[in-house]
Amino acid sequence: MISIVLATGNPHKVDEMRAIFAELAPAVSLLGLRDLQGPTPAEPAETGTTFEQNAAIKATAYARATGRMCLADDSGLEIDALRGRPGVISSHYCSDGREVGMTREQRDLANNQRVLAELAGFEDPARTARFVCVMALSAPDGHIRFTSRGTFEGLIGRQGQVPRGNNGFGYDPLFLVAPDFASTSAELDTAAKNRLSHRRRAAVSMAEFLRSL
Ligand code: IMP
Repeated sequence: MISIVLATGNPHKVDEMRAIFAELAPAVSLLGLRDLQGPTPAEPAETGTTFEQNAAIKATAYARATGRMCLADDSGLEIDALRGRPGVISSHYCSDGREVGMTREQRDLANNQRVLAELAGFEDPARTARFVCVMALSAPDGHIRFTSRGTFEGLIGRQGQVPRGNNGFGYDPLFLVAPDFASTSAELDTAAKNRLSHRRRAAVSMAEFLRSL
């Protein structure tokens, strides 16, 4: 059994990643930061301009701080009409990427309001979007062993049509899932989201690498 620390403070991601890896790489045990003894390592600043850079920053920082192999993901939403925004600042889009002391729930609500306001006036073809996830695996010394990327395609619904659904987090209540755009990703049950998601797709090749260790 290999044990790997999941370098994220987001409990939704820990649950999603555990469920996905339990199926794809059952011999890998994923520890959350809260499962470790001692103080939780400080969260590094995500100063990268790409998902790849930020995933590597997090994996490396937590690996060095814990002395363990660490898996980090960086993810976000790219909206075509907004030329790829919110992108790497998805989690703090409402404050232009700055940490201003809001709770995760407050940020999710304000981020969603900002996206809907910015897309007012755009018709469906321009509202195409995708969730992107990049995973990076760091050795305990901070050396990146493997990186993988996955995407999940959809469309941002119009105000009134969305928000919809109570599952998931972040932009899920706005995101109409391709190819039929009938439900938002917050209306999918956990198993369905875990089959389709950007995290699942990034995890497939990461799991293949982990199985080869
Ligand atoms: P990270 O924690 O820096 O990777 O930021 C990810 C941000 O992207 C989250 O806070 C959400 O706003 C958004 N995001 C990433 N994955 C998802 C998802 O599966 N559903 C909804 N929003 C997501």
